[in-house]
Amino acid sequence: MKTKRPIIIGGGAAGLSAAWTLRKRGIKAILFEANDRLGGRLGGDRMDGFFLDEGADFFCSSYDVAFRICQELGLPLIRSDMNLGWYRNGQWIKTTPIKSFGALIRNLPALWKLGLLSAGFLKLARAVKTESEYLNFASDSRIIELDGEENAGDYLKRIGLPESLKTTLRGFLEMTMGDVDQMGAAYMRTYIAEMLLKADQIYVPEKGAGELSHALADACGADIRTSMPVRRVVIQDGSVTGVLTDDGLIEADAVICATSASKAPDIIPDLPNKVLRVLGKVRYSRGCRVVIGLDAPPLPPGWHGALYPEDDTPLLLDRSINLPACVPPGKSTLDLLVGRDRAEELFPLDDQEIKRKLLADVRRNPPPGSNLPGDEEGLFTRVYRWKEAVCMGLPGMFKEVVEMRRQLNRDLKNLFLAGDYMRVPSVNGALASGVDAAEEVVELFEARPV
Ligand SMILES: Cc1cc2nc3c(=O)[nH]c(=O)nc-3n(C[C@H](O)[C@H](O)[C@H](O)COP(=O)(O)OP(=O)(O)OC[C@H]3O[C@@H](n4cnc5c(N)ncnc54)[C@H](O)[C@@H]3O)c2cc1C
Repeated sequence: MKTKRPIIIGGGAAGLSAAWTLRKRGIKAILFEANDRLGGRLGGDRMDGFFLDEGADFFCSSYDVAFRICQELGLPLIRSDMNLGWYRNGQWIKTTPIKSFGALIRNLPALWKLGLLSAGFLKLARAVKTESEYLNFASDSRIIELDGEENAGDYLKRIGLPESLKTTLRGFLEMTMGDVDQMGAAYMRTYIAEMLLKADQIYVPEKGAGELSHALADACGADIRTSMPVRRVVIQDGSVTGVLTDDGLIEADAVICATSASKAPDIIPDLPNKVLRVLGKVRYSRGCRVVIGLDAPPLPPGWHGALYPEDDTPLLLDRSINLPACVPPGKSTLDLLVGRDRAEELFPLDDQEIKRKLLADVRRNPPPGSNLPGDEEGLFTRVYRWKEAVCMGLPGMFKEVVEMRRQLNRDLKNLFLAGDYMRVPSVNGALASGVDAAEEVVELFEARPV
C-alpha cells in the first residue's frame, strides 16, 4: 500500500507540534522551513554554554498543550518568579510575586504607587477573575464567547481607570504585546488574567522556552528540510497535490501550512476569498531583542527584570536569575527588548548600533545599583529582529477564525492551516493549532485509505 505523505510548511511551534503529533500516530511528515534554523518565534539559540530565547520566553499557567508536550519529551519546567523593578514618576518601585499574605503586605507600598490598589484596578481584577473560565490560553479556552468589537484601549477607557494605572497597564501590555488600541479587549483581559493576577505561576523549560523547539525537532521524526521555502501550494480540482520548492514539485496527500497568517496567502493564492479576507485581518506586533552575554549580573541583586512603562525604554531581563541552567556557572545575560515604532526604527541598523542605542536609552534612568555593560563590553551580542512578533488578537478575530476554518474544511479537504492566530495567540495556541491540524490529517487519511 502506498504510504500517505503529509507536508508541513513552517518549522515554528505550530509546524513542529504537528510533526510530533503525526509521529505519535505513526505518520512521517516532510517539513519545509524557510530559515536555516527551526523554531520560528520559539527559537532557541545555543552558544558557548549559553541558551538564549530568540522570541517567546515564558509559559502561563493555562498552557496545557505546552506542559503536556514538555512532559512527553522529558523537558523539565521550572517556575519563574517575576521579581520586577518598575520606573514610574522618576522613581524605582520593586515588586515581588505575591504568594502569601506576608508578601502582599510587603508589596502594598509598591502596588499603591503603580495604581494596582485603586478601586479601578480592583474592579478590573474582579471582572477578569470572574471571566477566567473563558479567558485563558488553554486549548479549550472559551475566549470566543467574550470576543467582541471593542479594542483594549477603549475597554481601559470605558471602565474608568485612574491615569496612573492606565499608564502602568498600557506600558506593560505595549512592551510585550503591541498596540493596545488595536488589540482586542478579550485578548488583553486574558493576558492580564494570566500575567498580572497569576504572576506567581509562570513556567519556563529550565534552559529556556526555545529548548522546546529543539526537543520537538529531535523527537518528531520528520524529514526536515531547512533553508527550503515553499514557493507555492499546488491545488488541482479542489484538492492539494503538492508543493513547489526550489527543488521542484514535491507531491503530497495533505498539506499543513504552519506559517504566519500574512505568509499563507503568498504561497496559497488560490485560497477561498473568505479565508483570504480573514487572514488579511490578522495583525502582529513588532519587536527587537538584544541579548548580551556577561561575566556578572547586570541588574540589582535579586532583580529578574526592569520595566519602563512610561516610554519606549527597553524592558531589561536577566534570565540567569530565574533560569541558572541557561548560562555557564557564574555568567549572566542581559536581554533588552523593545516593540512598536521603536523596534521598527532599529530594524535597518547593524547589531552593534542597535546595542549602543538601547543601552543609551537605559542609561538615562538605570535601575539603582545596576551594573550595565559598556557599549563595547559583553562576551557576545545577539540581535533578533521580529517584524511579526506577537499576534494581537484584534477584536472579533476569534469568531472569524472559527468560521474561516469551517469554510476551508468545506472547500479544500486536504489543506489545513496552523499557527498561533488559529487559537489564542501564544506558544500554547501555536502548539494546539499544530495538534489540531495533525489530527485532521490523521482523520482524513483514515477516512480515505489508499
Ligand atoms: C520577542 C517575542 C516574545 C514572545 N514572547 C512570548 C512568550 O513569552 N510567551 C508566549 O506564549 N508567546 C510569546 N511570543 C509569541 C510566540 O512566540 C508565538 O505565538 C509562537 O511561537 C508562534 O508560533 P507559530 O508556529 O505560529 O509561528 P512562527 O514561529 O512564526 O513559525 C512559522 C514558521 O514558518 C516559516 N515559514 C514562513 N514562510 C515559509 C515558507 N514559505 N516555507 C517554509 N517555511 C516558512 C517561518 O520561517 C517560521 O519558522 C513571543 C514572540 C516574540 C517574537
